Amino acid sequence: FCAATRTFHSLREAADLLPESLPTTVAAYAFSNLPSSLPDRPALVDAATGISVSYPSFLAAVRSLACGLWSTLGLRPGDVALVVAPSRIEVPVIDFALMSIGAVVSPANPASTAEEYAHQAALSRPVVAFAAPEVAARLPPHLRCVVIGSEEYNRLASDGRAPPPPPVAVKQSDTAAVLYSSGTTGRVKAVALTHRNFIALLCAHKDNREKAAREAAEAGVEPPPPTVTLFPLPLFHVFGFMMLLRSVAMAETAVLMERFELSAALRAIERYRVTLLPGAPPLLVAMTKSEEARRRDLSSLLVIGIGGAPLGREVAEKFAAVFPNVELVQGYGLTESSGGVAATVGPEESKAFGSVGKLGSHMEAKIVDPTTGEALGPGQRGELWVRGPVIMKGKKSLFTCYVADDKATAETLDSEGWMKTGDLCYFNEDGFLYIVDRLKELIKYKGYQVPPAELEHILHSHPEIVDAAVIPYPDEDAGQLPMAFIVRKPGSNITKQQVMDYVAKHVAPYKKVRRVAFVSAIPKSPAGKILRRELVQQALTMGASK
Ligand code: AMP
Repeated sequence: FCAATRTFHSLREAADLLPESLPTTVAAYAFSNLPSSLPDRPALVDAATGISVSYPSFLAAVRSLACGLWSTLGLRPGDVALVVAPSRIEVPVIDFALMSIGAVVSPANPASTAEEYAHQAALSRPVVAFAAPEVAARLPPHLRCVVIGSEEYNRLASDGRAPPPPPVAVKQSDTAAVLYSSGTTGRVKAVALTHRNFIALLCAHKDNREKAAREAAEAGVEPPPPTVTLFPLPLFHVFGFMMLLRSVAMAETAVLMERFELSAALRAIERYRVTLLPGAPPLLVAMTKSEEARRRDLSSLLVIGIGGAPLGREVAEKFAAVFPNVELVQGYGLTESSGGVAATVGPEESKAFGSVGKLGSHMEAKIVDPTTGEALGPGQRGELWVRGPVIMKGKKSLFTCYVADDKATAETLDSEGWMKTGDLCYFNEDGFLYIVDRLKELIKYKGYQVPPAELEHILHSHPEIVDAAVIPYPDEDAGQLPMAFIVRKPGSNITKQQVMDYVAKHVAPYKKVRRVAFVSAIPKSPAGKILRRELVQQALTMGASK
């Protein structure tokens, strides 16, 4: 059973022809989409200060910085640059400038610890980092660091008079960005995504938008106002990164928030007449519960786009009851697929609560029995395998898809280009995709990835802990909480709080262990694999006291 449920032939052909027919870098592609007389609306707005950057200024800033990166810093195609800062206006300028010269953007979480950055840098091997002042001290000491806003940065950013980069030899199959994901198992890995991956996804967005405009025209409905997107989403996660590319490629406005805070987000929607609000399920839960959301003028808001973690049908229904005029788009994707695999398109599909919509026009998918490898039909549950131009680079490419991890690459991508998502899913007869469960180890806390293996590694380093396993514990607000099962050393009196504090010292705040249970042994298979499902059951039945 192979579901290609939306087949826009123009797009499929475009995807096949990408190398010849379109610019090579995703930055050039995005800019080539802008109308020749640039829109006078802002490209970027800082939600807190109201500072905005027009399209002409944004393009000039990108070009100027690109000159500095090339001529002064000496960056060349393929060089990797970490970008580690909250969502400030400089970040999109840096991302686009890097990609425009064929250098590789590697955005990372500004809340990470020194250990986490060291691990990421060992994988992606950056030659430079662009970092917010408060982050710089946590980066590996040997790594050249340009502090955003420093004199050095300002000089680079205003190097417009430096010789412009010559036309760079970049192929669409070259890496545009390296993001971080734990994939189906183990610790964080570096995911190489190409210019082609992103261009293909932008083609799909453009196709959807043009289709919606055609349908509106046919129905005699007023076209919607230009999109203004609020970014409570971090720009280092694939969802935010992709939405930013989309915003620029569609000549829309991106309103950036340094961190998500509901009240600030509601004020920003009101103040900047936000029309599109993408986020993870906790955003929707928070809005549904909020009194302030009912009081504020959110009449500009047309669409809320939710993805990154499961959204329960009841939660979706509650939201729809409180905000009947906001279309609830549900989507599903992975870092390894550059984001969007499936989404609801249009108000009719968006009412299919509980489903993540239909497969994108750029995707193929099949449902596979995880034990026999057999392809299954509609209504049958199995692992979702996906294939298409948005999937991270495969073995035949210059990079392996997980940089410097051939084993994980081979386990995830097969020789025909199918990527195993690690998600248990089914399609119904109408092509709607339902995510039932996660076969892989990953925990999602508020849409953020928490790899259990990483926390277990830290727990094992504690002298009073003999064994440990970390599992997801369901939580209404966060989706899942990381919960640790701990076997203490005989005679140890280490407390739950001490276990939590120990982990918290080593990881970014969203990865903290939030529940602990002490046990006499961790259940394992004969091969020594942790029986996580057994532990999840145990946690639920014991009501797992904190
Ligand atoms: P990430 O690479 O951080 O985007 O994580 C990808 C994983 O998040 C997927 O493999 C799913 O397990 C989960 N995920 C993403 N979107 C959804 C969704 N709409 N519903 C359920 N799970 C999701």
